[in-house]
Amino acid sequence: MECGEPAPAYTMTNTPPKSSTFDEHHPPSNEIIEKCVHCGFCLPVCPTYVLWGQEMDSPRGRIYLMKLAAEGGTDMNANWVGHFDTCLGCMACMTACPSGVDYGKLIEATRAQIERNTQRSPGEKRHRHFMFETFTRPERLKRLRLPLLVYQKSGLQAVVRASGILNFLPKKMQAMEALLPRLGPNEAIAEITPAIGEKRRRVGLLLGCVQREFFPQVNAATARVLAAEGCEVVAPQAQTCCGALLVHAGEEAAAVELAKKTIDAFERANVDAIVTNAAGCGSNVKEYGHLLRDDPAYAERAKKFAAKCKDISEVLTSFEPRAQRHPLKLRVAFHDSCHLQHALGVRSQPRALLAKIPDLQLAEIPEAAICCGSAGIYNLVQPDAANAIGDRKANLIAPLRADVVATGNPGCVLQLQSSLARNGHPTPVLHTIQLLDASIRGITPGNLLK
Ligand code: SF4
Ligand code: SF4
Repeated sequence: MECGEPAPAYTMTNTPPKSSTFDEHHPPSNEIIEKCVHCGFCLPVCPTYVLWGQEMDSPRGRIYLMKLAAEGGTDMNANWVGHFDTCLGCMACMTACPSGVDYGKLIEATRAQIERNTQRSPGEKRHRHFMFETFTRPERLKRLRLPLLVYQKSGLQAVVRASGILNFLPKKMQAMEALLPRLGPNEAIAEITPAIGEKRRRVGLLLGCVQREFFPQVNAATARVLAAEGCEVVAPQAQTCCGALLVHAGEEAAAVELAKKTIDAFERANVDAIVTNAAGCGSNVKEYGHLLRDDPAYAERAKKFAAKCKDISEVLTSFEPRAQRHPLKLRVAFHDSCHLQHALGVRSQPRALLAKIPDLQLAEIPEAAICCGSAGIYNLVQPDAANAIGDRKANLIAPLRADVVATGNPGCVLQLQSSLARNGHPTPVLHTIQLLDASIRGITPGNLLK
């Protein structure tokens, strides 16, 4: 089926109404489902539709499957679940939709229904349990740093990769190895980083989990740039995971508990704004009002908290720059993280920050609306699809002959690095804030990229 054509399967809505397949706890909203007019404008930006050309792996098809279950026309069988497991939750369909269908809320509710009401295989359960119990706990990620450093710095990783032994591992383990971050020195963030010069704002910094332990240089650069621009930075040491991975994977109950802890930690910090530098976390905390809507003790506080949350690029473009920018002679391909561009609507701000760096040349990546294949834990649970999407992105980046790729999400950094390397283009990938930090500190391109 082509986009713009009516979908024949929708004729089934004439079947007599039965009771819904969903349970009563926040099923996908019928009101949102009914907003879809089946126009198909979302199809060309949907990575899975672009890959496979299958209606049921498009946003329109998935909304139809939700409607079918809501009307009792299907149970949540493995085939039905599979179409939602392959959705990246990238929200490109939301930006493309002229009818304002909030697909984000639909997929979040559907995934929570799936996790509550279906059984995954023992192997899948173990895999998901490992990811949730590891990636949402900074203290556990911290314990992985030393063995990972030894694996990388001893040369063992290079030997293992060259030997071909990884090909004998299950695909999900291969994916995990390919996505390992290149660890650098650990840079701790102080509870308070004072503003340089006259204080303009007092801001909180959400440290993230993967960002905190595997990309500490990004948090350090964020704190330095904010301080250089006159912000006092508060990084509450009591902050936990914000729950982004859990929400996006349908683990609602666990995500609610982490959201409450995050709100508690930042309320005590008494800040004007809360800065996020991981787009997945940023879009999650923005939705706390929705996540905690049933909790009388937190519903209002969650809305206030969410209103304070801003991506680092939004904060830095909200006032006149004060710190001097030094030239950084680099050609930079900018990759829009999906949660930044589609969920938060932040596209122009990171480009504006980069454009103010003297000598830096910006290059636009074609098909910017389409995901790189990272999507939270997607590249770990759907490695074949993620690799295919990543290959497509890598081959769009390569002809730009960029010195570096910049983006605003740690998951995208890992996915792009791995996809570029797999396709023979080992272009470095950095967070946008690292380029700005280097420019303010007068670091040379050679030192930045070594
Ligand atoms: S969220 Fe992304 S992958 Fe899922 S239906 Fe929308 S465009 Fe497709
Ligand atoms: S989700 Fe929006 S763009 Fe996609 S088919 Fe429905 S109405 Fe059209």
